[in-house]
Amino acid sequence: MSKEFYHKKKWGQHFLNDPNIIRKIVKSAEIQPGEHVWEIGPGKGVLTDEILNYNPQLTIFEIDPFLIPYLQERYQDVLKSGKAELIHKDVMKTNWSDYIGSDKIKIVANLPYQITSPLMFKIVDYIEHFESVTIMIQKEVADRIAAKARTKDYGNLTIMLNYFFNIEKISKVPPHLFTPAPKVHSTVIRLTPRDDSPEVTNINDFKRVVRCAFSNRRKMLRRNFRDIMTSQQIDHISNNFDLSRRGETLSEAEFIWLSNTFSSIN
Ligand code: SAM
Repeated sequence: MSKEFYHKKKWGQHFLNDPNIIRKIVKSAEIQPGEHVWEIGPGKGVLTDEILNYNPQLTIFEIDPFLIPYLQERYQDVLKSGKAELIHKDVMKTNWSDYIGSDKIKIVANLPYQITSPLMFKIVDYIEHFESVTIMIQKEVADRIAAKARTKDYGNLTIMLNYFFNIEKISKVPPHLFTPAPKVHSTVIRLTPRDDSPEVTNINDFKRVVRCAFSNRRKMLRRNFRDIMTSQQIDHISNNFDLSRRGETLSEAEFIWLSNTFSSIN
């Protein structure tokens, strides 16, 4: 790697430098030989090396053009053999269908903090293709995912991820285990799709209702729902639900009830 490489803040380049954490992240993904793994943001390849020890079929997404020649050289053998592919793209602007095969995919990544939330929502949109998601994220985001109702952290991300996934905390990671050290602590989590998610009539309505309920946290549901419902629909729902409540007071079951009721009159 050229000595001139400098870490770019805009791409969240905090590279891991602790072999134990690297091993722990990859081990907890439980990769079997030949399984399809996506790594998002390999940086200089510390996780990539460990992932490759498990002999998977690997797809790597990296946005930084300065890292691409380095990664191409470092992984030339495995790239040539077809056991890995390196995609020089912004993972958020990539059409994921182009890289999804017939096998389910495990994601393993030390994520750039800037894209964590939008990436999680994108993963939800493709959930049927993923077997697990093992990622390092900012502790604050992990706290939002684990938040309880009636707290400031409870929101769209909490409801969505807990509806679709079982979520386990694997490890806390302090800033000094990265280069350069970030200002915040990190957490490794593993998400596995639930097979017991309660049924909703229309999953897109569910996503819209939850998103809309939190679009303005300080406003009542009645006001927020005006963006997606007619006044007749709001009146209909208000016969059986107190729409003067705010999104942060609702349980998953209540969101499902609202969404199913909305679907039945939409
Ligand atoms: N995996 C390495 C490690 O653990 O040391 C690097 C992790 S670093 C937190 C995040 C990596 O994601 C960087 O290599 C960065 O260039 C890359 N990245 C940032 N935004 C990206 C995006 N939108 N699409 C693909 N890669 C991205």
